Amino acid sequence: MNIKKNRSIITWIAVIVAIIALLFLMQYINPEKQAKKRMAEVGIECINVDDSELKQHFHPKFSINVDGKNEPIPADIGVFQDCSAEIHTHDSTGELHIETTNPDKKFTLGQFFAIWGRSIMRNRYNVVVSVNGNGFMENEDFYNKIELKDGEQIVIDYR
Ligand SMILES: [Zn+2]
Repeated sequence: MNIKKNRSIITWIAVIVAIIALLFLMQYINPEKQAKKRMAEVGIECINVDDSELKQHFHPKFSINVDGKNEPIPADIGVFQDCSAEIHTHDSTGELHIETTNPDKKFTLGQFFAIWGRSIMRNRYNVVVSVNGNGFMENEDFYNKIELKDGEQIVIDYR
């Protein structure tokens, strides 16, 4: 076997090792792990309990308009194989489910966006958030702190 052949074998081994390393890395950066990390950062737990063990279970309604057009909210935000975030969606209607075993815990719009992996603000848009018909044109920090309540109607308008 000559040197050239040896080199090409080494090159192939390097490529294969790189592919294996990449596959290994992709295990680490999978979306579920990322979402659970973001949840931990904002104090949201992932729970897997019987409905009878829930101490709070309520449903605000959430929608997004971009240039006056409704943008569907993805189903299953915060829903994982082994558990569900305390704030999650089941369908694309914008109904948020808040389900927790903590009787006193309060939840915010910012926490929902953190679970989703998005920011409330969008580049090149003015953002108006309305809560039960009252519109606010404020900064991101204000929007993040909007408390989620049962039956509340939250609309985000990107104009
Ligand atoms: Zn529910």
